[in-house]
Amino acid sequence: MDPPGSGVKTVYLALGSNLGDREKNLQQAIQALEVVRQSSIYETAPMLLEDQPWFLNQVVEIKTSLFPRQLLHHTQDIERVLGRKRTIVNGPRSIDIDILLYGQTIMSSDELTIPHPGMAQRRFVLEPLAELASTLRHPVLKRTIAQLLAGTKEQNVRPYNRPGL
Ligand code: ADP
Ligand code: MG
Repeated sequence: MDPPGSGVKTVYLALGSNLGDREKNLQQAIQALEVVRQSSIYETAPMLLEDQPWFLNQVVEIKTSLFPRQLLHHTQDIERVLGRKRTIVNGPRSIDIDILLYGQTIMSSDELTIPHPGMAQRRFVLEPLAELASTLRHPVLKRTIAQLLAGTKEQNVRPYNRPGL
């Protein structure tokens, strides 16, 4: 819980990469974001557009005093700096940064929906998020991350073992 009255929020972000040096892309995003805690890395089959490389996915926790839209612009700047080019919808990307949860905030605009609308069905988000915050409650669905994870179907998500380790 964030202390009442403080402008600092605990935020969970989902990172994904399936282009270039995927591990390095995650690492560089983590550095740029000033991450407090991070999950382990998962390797995931692409869901929507299947003919593309597997993703590496990770969830990170940050503390921020930015407002939600400011935070989105900040994460979009980082995506740009790390070389993300928006070409094919749902296609390969060097880095994707999605805002999953922003404290207990619920909001929806053309630009930004929090909690992230896809998170409750996605194992590649819920598995890493459960490492960091399994008892945290989804502010809309009122269920914990562990409960949401237990309710999702099997998907192609596996722990990522660094090559050479
Ligand atoms: P996706 O993450 O769905 O693969 P993009 O990263 O290109 O695709 O995001 C598309 C748009 O989603 C962004 O331009 C952003 O305005 C919007 N968006 C809405 N809610 C969120 C959120 N919670 N986190 C990140 N982006 C979001
Ligand atoms: Mg995104």
